[in-house]
Amino acid sequence: TTQPHLSFHDGRTIPQIGLGVWQTPDDVAVTAVETALKAGYRHIDTAAVYQNEQGVGEGIKVSGVRREDIFLTTKVWNDDQGFDETLRAMDQSLERLGTDYVDLYLIHWPSAYRGKFVDTWKALIRLKDEGKARSIGVSNFEGSYIDKLEAETGVLPVINQVQLHPRFQQRQLRARYEPKKIITESWSPLGQGKMLEDPTIAGIAQRHGKSAAQVIIRWHIEEGLVVIPKSVTPSRIVENFDVFDFALTEEDKAAINGLDSAEGRIGSDPLMAK
Ligand code: NAD
Repeated sequence: TTQPHLSFHDGRTIPQIGLGVWQTPDDVAVTAVETALKAGYRHIDTAAVYQNEQGVGEGIKVSGVRREDIFLTTKVWNDDQGFDETLRAMDQSLERLGTDYVDLYLIHWPSAYRGKFVDTWKALIRLKDEGKARSIGVSNFEGSYIDKLEAETGVLPVINQVQLHPRFQQRQLRARYEPKKIITESWSPLGQGKMLEDPTIAGIAQRHGKSAAQVIIRWHIEEGLVVIPKSVTPSRIVENFDVFDFALTEEDKAAINGLDSAEGRIGSDPLMAK
């Protein structure tokens, strides 16, 4: 399968589309992951806190796709922050996933009030040295938290996974970290499904003969983002990957860029406690 990849500053690459599996129980995750891999996806995004790493691992095995051909991401949960705690959490994740490495390990939230994200980052640096994580990054690191990691360790994350969709485009954060070669990855890329009813998106979709979900996913790709739409419905999993036979026009892009809003965030601000 040829599909677009983005290059990390550590020399590795990531497939631009992945399957998100938040709120997917183990047994459902097995089928969703198998369906996605058979449809051509080569990237899965899970987390310890999703409690489905075992199902994800099983889905990979039953798919018949070789482990080395799959890009697998998991994340250390807030309760496990701290140097030793994170090393232990990684071993538990690998055990559940049934593999001896992940392609990307992320700090799930800064959870700054705990005062542990720098120690957690030092553990990720160790895990990369040991080969248990091929690449290391962060999630929900808004504000200046990435600068703190750089100041204290000299090591920059390869990626920052943040909430990003047409109504919340994170332009400031991207302008700040893209010059440092940090890739931005969009979580809730469809606005948790809420963007699919938008009339601007619907009009563009109709003109291209594609679905609203496909238009939004295509927009993330053309923006140079990594995108991890979630679905457990086989037809939608297939649909969300079928975005390589059309391109947005300049007018389409301008219209979608115009949907950005300061009030577009869904849920809690990562600068607050979590
Ligand atoms: P999303 O924006 O991907 O929306 C998913 C929902 O959209 C689905 O539940 C379904 O209702 C609908 N949908 C998907 N495809 C569709 C289609 N083709 N047609 C019609 N409806 C469709 O929402 P999400 O699950 O919040 O985000 C995706 C992934 O991002 C998660 O699964 C997870 O892996 C990741 N994530 C990470 C964080 C984080 O803190 N790092 C937070 C939230 C989500």
